[in-house]
Amino acid sequence: MSLRLPSERPEEPPTGYKIAHPMLSQDGTRAGFTGVSLGGSLPYGVLDAARCAYGRRHRAPHRRCDCGFHCVHARAEAEGLLCTAEHRTAALLEVTVLGAYIRFERGFRYARQRVRSVTVQPCGCGAAATGLADAGWGRPGWRALEGVCGACGRGTGRRALALGRFAAVAGEGLRLTAAAAVAAGTPTGLGLPELAAEAALLQARLDWFQSELGRLRDRG
Ligand SMILES: [Zn+2]
Ligand SMILES: [Zn+2]
Repeated sequence: MSLRLPSERPEEPPTGYKIAHPMLSQDGTRAGFTGVSLGGSLPYGVLDAARCAYGRRHRAPHRRCDCGFHCVHARAEAEGLLCTAEHRTAALLEVTVLGAYIRFERGFRYARQRVRSVTVQPCGCGAAATGLADAGWGRPGWRALEGVCGACGRGTGRRALALGRFAAVAGEGLRLTAAAAVAAGTPTGLGLPELAAEAALLQARLDWFQSELGRLRDRG
């Protein structure tokens, strides 16, 4: 007996959300993305078809495999994935699910995909990103990129690509926007009393650190 799921024929292709790292080809002529988990080794283009991540000779998504593109239904859930340390520099992608798909409670696994828009995370300093800079890692033939602000891009001498430039290289009408600057918890909005309190706290930590260091040295 074979179990069949009900088939759907939507009028409009479904929309989903996912996170991925923007990538630029070695020669700078192609832009794409690399996923954060399964299939993360294969960069994909703005409009692309999934291949089995295990190299099996079946069409993705296959029911007895976990290959294919993946996305979730809720934007907030994809945003939640950006909170983990290893995904802080990934971007949020809004995608259109094309071709055959398998629907799950939280998302889809599917055959083809169009990336419609990309929201780039703020620069490491907290300011909104104005460009994408070399993230210091990649895949053969591809460099991973991460959001950088104008000041940090110039200050570190890293080659940065304007967001619009990445969109132009990617083609297919891709839109890129920068996530708002990180506001809460940064010293930018603090007055003198708060900064003085912060400094006292840091001094206390430093004193403790130095006494610990001294203790270890005495022992050694
Ligand atoms: Zn497969
Ligand atoms: Zn910056």
